[in-house]
Amino acid sequence: MAQDCIIIGGGIAGLQAAIQLGRYSAYDVLVIDDGVGRSTLCRKYHNILGWPQGISGEELRRRGREQAESVGIRFTQDRVITAARNDDGTMLLKGETGNKYEAATILLATGVSDRIPDIPGLVTTLGSSVYICPDCDGYEIEGKLTVLMGAGDSGANMALILAERTSMLTYVNHDASPISPKLMEQLRLEKISYIDEPIAEIRQGAEGQIEQVVLNNGTVLLAERGFIAFGGNQVHSELADQLGAKLSPNGHVESDPRSKQTSIEGVWVAGDVALHAEQATVAMGEGSIAAIWIHKALRQRKGLTK
Ligand SMILES: Cc1cc2nc3c(=O)[nH]c(=O)nc-3n(C[C@H](O)[C@H](O)[C@H](O)COP(=O)(O)OP(=O)(O)OC[C@H]3O[C@@H](n4cnc5c(N)ncnc54)[C@H](O)[C@@H]3O)c2cc1C
Repeated sequence: MAQDCIIIGGGIAGLQAAIQLGRYSAYDVLVIDDGVGRSTLCRKYHNILGWPQGISGEELRRRGREQAESVGIRFTQDRVITAARNDDGTMLLKGETGNKYEAATILLATGVSDRIPDIPGLVTTLGSSVYICPDCDGYEIEGKLTVLMGAGDSGANMALILAERTSMLTYVNHDASPISPKLMEQLRLEKISYIDEPIAEIRQGAEGQIEQVVLNNGTVLLAERGFIAFGGNQVHSELADQLGAKLSPNGHVESDPRSKQTSIEGVWVAGDVALHAEQATVAMGEGSIAAIWIHKALRQRKGLTK
């Protein structure tokens, strides 16, 4: 039998939606998650209400899942690889485990994946002293010796944003991607140090904080903070695309701003895969909004409203 709702993606958006839906005590809801995603990478979110010292993505996810399970939400580990709409309007999903799932409504909360080169020592610093989002963590680098590790124009654009928060900034173009002459000139005008050399490793201090960025040519850059901007992020809108939902030119899923329903009836979207600022709190808010409107749709489906 079809579930009332399947949430694809058990990150921040999916978990918040699950908690909201579970609290109606009325629906059979399954979260399908393959356990990766940006929230598994961030060692500390610093900009969330109630967590002034920060909380890790892993801990937030653990607590979110526990809270969702306590209100009757079920979880399964799988990666949904195909999605289609049946003639009766229900959705048919197939996972890479070979399992099939059916639901009256679905929420796409599949997020975005960052392109993070395999630099030894990098991943374990993410969110604690090496950041990705200037809106989230520009504050953390204020007046600090900062090394921006990036590629080409993506890195150059980030360098110009970060220069507003610290004057002690070096941009290392890790994979020698080209930088437009206009951006190069802007870096020069802003007096941002620029190095074109691959990064060999990140060395951390006792608390796992970035301390040195070692380049392939042996140069050692001291760093109190780091940032990354390699470009080439992947938006996980493949399932929305298969269902025929409208995508924006940058690959994110468009939706009604009030309800978060996509252009396909019965399909909602929330979090980084949708169009917005790519922040944890925004993902939570969108998860809640989508869940409230899924609830309205399910009530109607069950004949509880006119
Ligand atoms: C290093 C780093 C630091 C960050 N720091 C901050 C910060 O300080 N403050 C802030 O507000 N934001 C920060 N962010 C951004 C924040 O993590 C995201 O905005 C947030 O995780 C978005 O939540 P989401 O649920 O949309 O996506 P995610 O948290 O990425 O969750 C998506 C989930 O969907 C699953 N999934 C994807 N496709 C499928 C599929 N086909 N089938 C099944 N499951 C699937 C993934 O496994 C994942 O669990 C940071 C991100 C990174 C990477």
